[in-house]
Amino acid sequence: MRKSELPPRTDLILLGGGHSHLFVLERLAMRPPPATRITLVTRDLHTPYSGMLPGYVAGHYAFDDAHIDLLPLARRAGARVIHAEACGLDADRRQLAIAGRPPLGYDLLSINIGSRPTFAAEVEADPRQFAVKPVDRFIEAWQRLECRLRDDAGEIRVAIVGAGAGGVELALALDHRARHLDGRRGQLRIVLCNDREQILASHNPRVRRIFERILRQRGIELRHRFRALEFGDAELRDESGHAIAADAVIWVTHASPAPWLRESGLELDDAGFVRVAPTLQSLSHAEVFAAGDIAAVAGYPRPKSGVFAVRQGLPLARNLRRVVEGRSPLEFRPQRQFLSLISTGDRYAVASRGRWAFAGRWWWRLKDRIDRKFVRRFGELPPMAGDDEAAPDLAPMRCGGCGSKLGSGILEPVLTRIADETGLDLRGGFAYADDAALVKVPEGAALIQTVDHFSSFVDDPYTFGRIAANHALGDLYAMGVPPHSALVSVSVAFGGERQQADDLYLLLSGIVATLRANETRLLGGHSGEAAQMSCGLSVNGFAEPLMLWRKSGLEPGDALLLTKPLGSGMLFAADMRGRARGDWIDRALASMLQGNREAMRRLRRFDVRACTDVTGFGLAGHLFEMARASGVAAEVVLPALPLLAGAAELAATGLVSSLQPQNLRLRHQIDDPAGLAADPRYPLLFDPQTAGGLLAGVPAAQAAEAVATLRAAGFTQATVVARAVAAESPDWSLRLVSA
Ligand SMILES: Cc1cc2nc3c(=O)[nH]c(=O)nc-3n(C[C@H](O)[C@H](O)[C@H](O)COP(=O)(O)OP(=O)(O)OC[C@H]3O[C@@H](n4cnc5c(N)ncnc54)[C@H](O)[C@@H]3O)c2cc1C
Repeated sequence: MRKSELPPRTDLILLGGGHSHLFVLERLAMRPPPATRITLVTRDLHTPYSGMLPGYVAGHYAFDDAHIDLLPLARRAGARVIHAEACGLDADRRQLAIAGRPPLGYDLLSINIGSRPTFAAEVEADPRQFAVKPVDRFIEAWQRLECRLRDDAGEIRVAIVGAGAGGVELALALDHRARHLDGRRGQLRIVLCNDREQILASHNPRVRRIFERILRQRGIELRHRFRALEFGDAELRDESGHAIAADAVIWVTHASPAPWLRESGLELDDAGFVRVAPTLQSLSHAEVFAAGDIAAVAGYPRPKSGVFAVRQGLPLARNLRRVVEGRSPLEFRPQRQFLSLISTGDRYAVASRGRWAFAGRWWWRLKDRIDRKFVRRFGELPPMAGDDEAAPDLAPMRCGGCGSKLGSGILEPVLTRIADETGLDLRGGFAYADDAALVKVPEGAALIQTVDHFSSFVDDPYTFGRIAANHALGDLYAMGVPPHSALVSVSVAFGGERQQADDLYLLLSGIVATLRANETRLLGGHSGEAAQMSCGLSVNGFAEPLMLWRKSGLEPGDALLLTKPLGSGMLFAADMRGRARGDWIDRALASMLQGNREAMRRLRRFDVRACTDVTGFGLAGHLFEMARASGVAAEVVLPALPLLAGAAELAATGLVSSLQPQNLRLRHQIDDPAGLAADPRYPLLFDPQTAGGLLAGVPAAQAAEAVATLRAAGFTQATVVARAVAAESPDWSLRLVSA
């Protein structure tokens, strides 16, 4: 029996992709725990290694050097990934609230969400000031500041608030970067301020003296006893009304915890961090663990530093496993002293430990080596184990037929919950009432119906539900028809009652959210259980038959526009093998979640001669169908194909979706006089798409305006990919051209 068919017993949520969870994921990949479903909920798919952040600002590291891609790591650990930000926790009810989507239940929760500087939340809306964390927002803001440094002629005054190791390193890194931007250092004024008497309060006086000298030499101004409070009118002000003139402010203040923890019911320390025993187990809730900055270990107060988050990684992994196995967790005593390597921006570093301090290039090289090794450890992963791995458990036999329906004990509470949240009563069609839905067709209109069915290809049921609904609606939009109503048939994976209820709730919530956004009523459906989650939707709409767009109708000379980029099949095939980058999958998901409704509306302004949506047969297959139905041929402008990020790279490796070989059979209908089949885009002609874009033929004279209108509506990669030509030969229907 495959692992996916086992009913999981323990729902383990790893919240946050911090340093400690990297080790947990690594260990889970090496030895999967018995009967456990693991879910990683993370705000960032590429988690930063903050020790390298100053080096990134100084220009020594590229983004990938300083970030760890969580997606391949999670794949190896067999963990579902939910790319979202937690915004609340009800520890008594074991419910994690997640921004913009339904909550998640758990049996075991491990929190490793780090901290942010005080004030980070307050400054989020103002582009002129930003906090060093969350790091992704910092990087965006830093890139904007870097552009200003490069392009603005006048003086730029930057105030950095907080003179701990992070603030000092950032000030020096900024100085170093400016020196290497064509003499821009002269225009940059850096002020480093803090609310204490001195910089680097947690380090020894020798370290402080070294840095005071270096800061002076580099022309960085220091302001002590300045407790910055607010920024406005180009002034950073403290509580006594003193001011520092500044155009931009970077906050690197004391670490503070996520504010929503206050309402969680967990025992917290005075500052709001989660109080844990030396086992890393919450003092109030035994099923909650915490590590890294967010944890306050009782009896072992330590500064908020990545060193401790890293050290806690393996003990946390061990204890989570022990709890899953029904054993008691073990204590971990963190060391008191540790070596800090603080960089000065110019490939030079100061080593600080207890009372001693050393400085030199050698220390920077050592830091660089340690940091790179850390990122490599989680980046260079061994190949994934095969699917036929021995299953650690046995599952009871499951029934088929009507026996595979979900019991009403699971279904009804889920439907009631969704009804309560959305105000929609879904119970009629699902559970009781009539046997079938009744839909009245308006006079003079025809009923247009479509059906689609998928097995889950993303491990987050909510996202899966949204994409599946989007995909199904695409068939109606391709005919220019606004949807009216839908029926749904869903299966959730075998598992415990609570897990099935959770999955069903998330899946139906995703479907309902998308249907509502498309003003489509859910009339009813059917639910069951199966080896894998799956979902089918039948969607209805009404239209006057003469108003329908069809696949036929193209005329020679027409331009064929594609509204969305290609590559989703290939990207998800790579993801299954742990070979896709997190940001690629993220962008592919965003594209699949973008519905075709607005594209249809925009295209209605033009003389659409024929239209379809690009799905399982790939662009070539759907274009071929249109050309055949219209009695024309089509020239495909290969270099113009819009691609999802990562698609070209994957195509070059030869990795394809399992459906691609069938789609490739169309090759014999493709004429390639210029030998373009060697182009890396060529395989993407056959790549099956899920929730793909519309492919619409319009008169050539309208093409530019149609593309501009689509782009303005958010279809930023919409473009002309082909043109209809007279069918010259029965030997080919599609011809590859370069322009
Ligand atoms: C400029 C700078 C330099 C530093 N240099 C060093 C150094 O050289 N050495 C050192 O030891 N320490 C250093 N630190 C301190 C270090 O950054 C932190 O102590 C360390 O990152 C804490 O690790 P963590 O595992 O607790 O969390 P983090 O590394 O902060 O990871 C938290 C993760 O959780 C995710 N997350 C956060 N909130 C949520 C949420 N609500 N829902 C879902 N996911 C969430 C984030 O996306 C992130 O992936 C530095 C800090 C700064 C600011």
